[in-house]
Amino acid sequence: MANIHFHPDPVLLSRFAHGELESASSIMISAHLEFCPYCRQKIAAIETEQAGLLEKSEPATLSPALNAMMQQIMDQELVDETVDDWPDTQLKLEDKSYPLPSALQRHNEKIGPWSRLPGNIKRAQVDVSGSCKMNFIYMDSDSALPEHTHQGQEITLVLAGEFYDENGTYKPGDFIIQTEAHKHLPRTREGKDCLCLTLLNAPLHFTSGLATLLNPFSQLFFR
Ligand SMILES: [Zn+2]
Repeated sequence: MANIHFHPDPVLLSRFAHGELESASSIMISAHLEFCPYCRQKIAAIETEQAGLLEKSEPATLSPALNAMMQQIMDQELVDETVDDWPDTQLKLEDKSYPLPSALQRHNEKIGPWSRLPGNIKRAQVDVSGSCKMNFIYMDSDSALPEHTHQGQEITLVLAGEFYDENGTYKPGDFIIQTEAHKHLPRTREGKDCLCLTLLNAPLHFTSGLATLLNPFSQLFFR
């Protein structure tokens, strides 16, 4: 998708290709790859390089399992559309329905239920192993998350719709990493809602005047 402006950095892609990321981070990267031919090419190049190195040292080595997974992702684009109608490949929110990232398909028992957060935000937790917290975040049109900074790191992948903050507008496939250094105020415009998949490795720290009220919200959000 040519509209993607924010990608995982080369170090992260390389660590993914080498199987060095924990599963929650790998899910975020592979979900981005489904949107992004540019990064798929980069992964393929790293793998070709790896395969070359393996051939030199161990001629009989089997292809890495990652190759099989990437092949699966590529193949899925060719799969007949009826497959997309399977309920467990879709994320449901009231009358709306969104295609799930492949890595989360057929694992519906690990998702949800939706809960309502302040500011027209809805959230469904994804049960992932490790210390990270993964959530689907739905922002209705014309809504805002309270301004916050991050202790640690937050990865956001836009799955549908769009949101914006001080630094730009983010659309499907955009992969944004926020750290302690960032303070931002995510918002949606009138008539534009947004579904994201987020991965947090520490609670959000809210900086707005409502901070006192929102402290419980911070815990709620991270849980
Ligand atoms: Zn990309």
